[in-house]
Amino acid sequence: MPEYSNSMKILKVGDQAKAACETCQAFTSITYQLHDVPFSDGSGLTKNILAGVCDVCGAVTVIPHQSTPAICSTLAQQHNFVY
Ligand SMILES: [Zn+2]
Repeated sequence: MPEYSNSMKILKVGDQAKAACETCQAFTSITYQLHDVPFSDGSGLTKNILAGVCDVCGAVTVIPHQSTPAICSTLAQQHNFVY
């Protein structure tokens, strides 16, 4: 069994966790769902990113590292796209 199998937990839709929600100003339970996440500079949207959504207010609270490459690749695609 490879050593990294324990430390690399791959999240999937429906997984639940606890996270600090900025909107609720509290530690809430979250559920991982596929979500459309806007870029921080507001230039676009990455669709169907696995993100942790606050069960209380519905805000995206956590974007796991495994979703980051998807955001980057979408960004790269958009930059290469000729309008
Ligand atoms: Zn919340």
